[in-house]
Amino acid sequence: MIISKQKNLDEILEAIKDNNSFFLVGCSECASLCGTGDEAALEDMKKRLEEKGKKVTGYFVAKTGCQVLGTKVELKKFKNEVEGADALIIMSCGAGAQAAVEIFKDKPVYTANDTLFLGNMTRFRVFDERCSLCGECIINETGGICPVTNCPKGLLNGPCGGMKNGKCEVDTERDCVWVRIYNRLNDLHRLDQMEEIAEPKDYGKHTKPSALTGKKD
Ligand code: SF4
Ligand code: SF4
Repeated sequence: MIISKQKNLDEILEAIKDNNSFFLVGCSECASLCGTGDEAALEDMKKRLEEKGKKVTGYFVAKTGCQVLGTKVELKKFKNEVEGADALIIMSCGAGAQAAVEIFKDKPVYTANDTLFLGNMTRFRVFDERCSLCGECIINETGGICPVTNCPKGLLNGPCGGMKNGKCEVDTERDCVWVRIYNRLNDLHRLDQMEEIAEPKDYGKHTKPSALTGKKD
């Protein structure tokens, strides 16, 4: 899931200072799980904006905010509220905010959130990064655990000299990912995979902007 956190209100107010009335759009997927785009977050944003003298004409939680066509259809029933607003405030990830830019060509669109990373929710509203979207996944060779993301140095062939007592030298609260990979491969009786030397990673697979047509290779 895409992890986001809400910007502080002062930053949002600074961004929206040229407009007075707003329609708010959340997202029922990742942003709702993060508490940054669910109905409660939108209601809270409405209240706080109104306390600062702004008008909120309405709000809704899109099913999937980054899905341009679906969100456009869903928004039809809010036509009057949207037309009555000077601008939109999007409470989703950056992709959702840019979907709104494509939909609302004649109104300013602001984001209320910072989009942080792709990760897992390990406990309620506790998130850990899991994937850096490198474009060429290597976890079949590393016991299903990603060293590109979980090693601060992105090392691909075992731990650095700083690993101590199984912990990472960069963040001593965390296990060194190469210890985790070793233990996992050991449990799977696949320690032979530790002996295979990984080639330098081709970061050219992750040129931006990426696109995918849906065609299979
Ligand atoms: S190897 Fe690349 S694609 Fe696979 S989990 Fe790690 S960052 Fe993501
Ligand atoms: S201790 Fe392990 S996880 Fe930390 S930087 Fe070194 S190899 Fe990477």
